[in-house]
Amino acid sequence: MMKEASAAEVNQILQNQKFYFASQETKSIDFRLEQLKKLKAGVKMHEQKIVKALALDLNKSELESYSTEIGILYEEINFSMKRLRKWAKPKKVRTALTHAGSKGYILPEPYGAVLIIAPWNYPFQLALSPLVGAIAAGNTAVIKPSELTPNVSALIADILQELYPSSYIAVAEGGVSTSQALLDQPFDYIFFTGSVSVGKVVMEAASKKLTPVTLELGGKSPTIVHEDANIRLAAKRIVFGKFMNAGQTCIAPDYLLVHTKVKAALIEAMKVTIKEFYGEQPIENSSYSKIVNGHHYNRLTGYLNDGTIIFGGEKSDDKNRIAPTLLDEVSPDSPVMTEEIFGPIFPVMEYTSLNEAITFINSRPKPLALYLFTQNKETEDQITGRVSFGGGCINDALMHIAPPYLPFGGVGESGMGNYHGKYSFETFSHSKSVLKQTNRFDFSFRYPSAKNGLKLV
Ligand code: NAD
Repeated sequence: MMKEASAAEVNQILQNQKFYFASQETKSIDFRLEQLKKLKAGVKMHEQKIVKALALDLNKSELESYSTEIGILYEEINFSMKRLRKWAKPKKVRTALTHAGSKGYILPEPYGAVLIIAPWNYPFQLALSPLVGAIAAGNTAVIKPSELTPNVSALIADILQELYPSSYIAVAEGGVSTSQALLDQPFDYIFFTGSVSVGKVVMEAASKKLTPVTLELGGKSPTIVHEDANIRLAAKRIVFGKFMNAGQTCIAPDYLLVHTKVKAALIEAMKVTIKEFYGEQPIENSSYSKIVNGHHYNRLTGYLNDGTIIFGGEKSDDKNRIAPTLLDEVSPDSPVMTEEIFGPIFPVMEYTSLNEAITFINSRPKPLALYLFTQNKETEDQITGRVSFGGGCINDALMHIAPPYLPFGGVGESGMGNYHGKYSFETFSHSKSVLKQTNRFDFSFRYPSAKNGLKLV
């Protein structure tokens, strides 16, 4: 059992961080750059241990660990370090004619002590990527990694303890009770990644102190394959996005909406691709991720009864693995079509007109991601213009998460706020507006009972 941090402990950490933040040290740009450099070096030094911890907790392959957990973090650090001086500069803005003589500027300032709560599915990257933004913006931070991936959690604590004093960056390990003890504290900002239901708990706790929040949540991300799609490429990219990390990806394609005319061809192509990627026996494939724990394994195997299995369906109780599975003839009201799946089960629904697909998606909570496969610009415009979603891809899956130029986040029930690259810096900064007035002259008409006119002083 993982030790839970007590209310007194987390209160002490926060007091120390507030005291340290008040010293102004974290605000210097040189200091921030130095800490980011340290973070990169620290991760580099422990790469092998990170890969091992991810394998123990999730059976993540080395390739996946590098591409989706470690490499993406280096990218984020490099990108921020290169641009930080520019981002942190006060930005001059115009003032109105009524404010002649004055100057305006926006000064990005760190919030102070921020809290980062992370989930288990990309347990390393989703704890440390927000930290890059928090450091770049000049904050102190407390990280609460997920208790469901204990090896990664302990390693994050070790690495960060080695790199930083806890009055600057601290890790509070534990589960729900640690998380709640942290949420009771007066942090200056809360950055939460996790489920919609816990997102509501976080927002409620934050509302008591009016603490600003970013909520990176989940939901059901539709994947539309239109009649004019390139079927072979669509199949490859969907299978890649859906079954990476055994479907335990917040932006994984959750369900398929395929045009009736191409349904058979797409399903056939997906079957071939699954075999190409994972072999005839995916649950025996040593680089295919496992389901994180028994609770989630049982939840997922329950979905197998919500439709007709047309491919896959094999499972291994002792390995916590479920093969990539395609599920046809599902009802839109069944659990597999109403709950976030977060596993390697892919329900297939079909449509005959684009309007039908749009109406279906719009009748449900706004998704975190949406993927559309089409070669027609008109179809693309219909979907991007009429459907609200956090972000997504045309003719691909997952890949919009990587470029640091694109803000990443949800909308509606899938979350609020966004991050990555400059957007992370902005998320962890308050934009302080300053108007600097001239003393060279003074408009008397602004004052009560003054005579209109310009007075030289
Ligand atoms: P979760 O909401 O169960 O847990 C997330 C964090 O909250 C953990 O650190 C956990 O200890 C803590 N927590 C759990 N219950 C709590 C409670 N009652 N009060 C306070 N804290 C609590 O989510 P998870 O199972 O770790 O992750 C899966 C979910 O996260 C999925 O819904 C997925 O879509 C979402 N997710 C979103 C993103 C994104 O970037 N938008 C990324 C990864 C995962």
